Amino acid sequence: MTGPYPSEPLLHLALRVEQDIFLVRQRGREVAAAVGLEHQDQVRVATALSEVARDLLRSVDGADVTFVLDGDPLSGRSVLLVELLPVRPLSDGRYEPQSGAVARLVDMLGVVPRGEDSVVRMSRRLPANAPVPTPERLAELRVELASSAPGTALDELAAQNAQLIAALDEVRSQRDELEVLNSELQETNRGVMALYNQLTEELEETNRGVVALYAELDEKSAQLRAASESKSRFLANVSHELRAPVTAIIGLGRLLADSASDPLTAEQARQVGLIRSSASDLLNLVNELLDLAKAESGRIEPNWAEVDLRGLFGQLRGTLRALATKSEVELVVEEPPAPATVRSDEVLLAQVLRNLLHNGLKFTERGEVRLRAERRDDRWSLSVSDTGAGIPTELQERIFEEFYQVPGTTRVGGTGLGLPYARRLVTLLGGTLELSSEPGRGSTFTVLLPLDGA
Ligand code: ADP
Repeated sequence: MTGPYPSEPLLHLALRVEQDIFLVRQRGREVAAAVGLEHQDQVRVATALSEVARDLLRSVDGADVTFVLDGDPLSGRSVLLVELLPVRPLSDGRYEPQSGAVARLVDMLGVVPRGEDSVVRMSRRLPANAPVPTPERLAELRVELASSAPGTALDELAAQNAQLIAALDEVRSQRDELEVLNSELQETNRGVMALYNQLTEELEETNRGVVALYAELDEKSAQLRAASESKSRFLANVSHELRAPVTAIIGLGRLLADSASDPLTAEQARQVGLIRSSASDLLNLVNELLDLAKAESGRIEPNWAEVDLRGLFGQLRGTLRALATKSEVELVVEEPPAPATVRSDEVLLAQVLRNLLHNGLKFTERGEVRLRAERRDDRWSLSVSDTGAGIPTELQERIFEEFYQVPGTTRVGGTGLGLPYARRLVTLLGGTLELSSEPGRGSTFTVLLPLDGA
């Protein structure tokens, strides 16, 4: 069998004198090449071997060197083992290479027990793609190695020099490559820095633009606020100033038409009637303007309280019945589902619903106008729907603008101020006022109010 080794050794050598170091080195390289190690690994094994050989020659007068091929059970790869059995026992049974770098040349370097003795062992794995040598191939190798004539120390020196030159060349070419890489890296860095600077500059530029834009926007909003405030002030003042004379005109008109006054001719009575109706239209407008101005200037403070929707609806049913004069139009006020309470301002809410119902009755020729309350989660939906002419889609937002009236609807009277005012009030009450309408079929105005107020 194989004796103390995992398989039959490939080669034995004796290391006794200085000359043998060259021999061991040379044969080490040859064995490494023969078993299939790559060129660089051959040099590594040979160099490590000559270093260890020198150490052992000095410390224990030499060693018996054995080359063996083994299999690594873990990786399944073949491993070249070189074992050096010292001539005299190692001091303390330990071995430390003179040069610390030696251990890095091989996969493993250390002392292992071999029977009674200790041997210095080094190993190097064969490349993964190296064929596992058959026993026949190993026998051949043994014969080849045994028959090859060892060279002289000079030969080995020459070989060693050639390897050194090759290694130096490689180092140089690696350094050159590194330099090229470095300069490419610097170039790239410069490019990245330039891009970064450019981006930073663009960002700063954009930031400056945005800041300027915001300043302008702030200025414009302040101007807008000021304009809106002066408009509200103007409306409030003018309407307030107009109210007294208009009320006086209405009063005088009433006096003139009074039966206690001097009788008027039919024509005079007609003219006084015209004056009175125009004056009351004007008073209407003035009052609505005043309301709107008040709501816009934030001078309306809702009076929050628990509002009973059933009571409110009953009251609306009563007051609006008088307005529902067309026989083809029915006013339907549904009973709100219990518990019918909402935290709101009863007067303002009544004003909004009255306005919507009034519009419904005004713009509906036949069918019905319906007021309905529905609970939706944490909100109340109060809707006024009618079967009137409806409002064209593109005008559905415009009718919430001040003074806007859908063309063709002005003959029924009005100021175009009711809806903007209603929307302002609903907003004050913490809700929203929305419209859905289908021209020709009718409109539904919906007030959505939170249960617990704003
Ligand atoms: P006013 O009714 O005094 O004209 P509003 O602001 O209340 O003012 O309404 C603005 C316009 O919206 C009305 O002139 C009318 O053209 C349109 N409108 C409002 N409600 C209805 C409705 N229920 N059906 C059809 N059109 C409507």
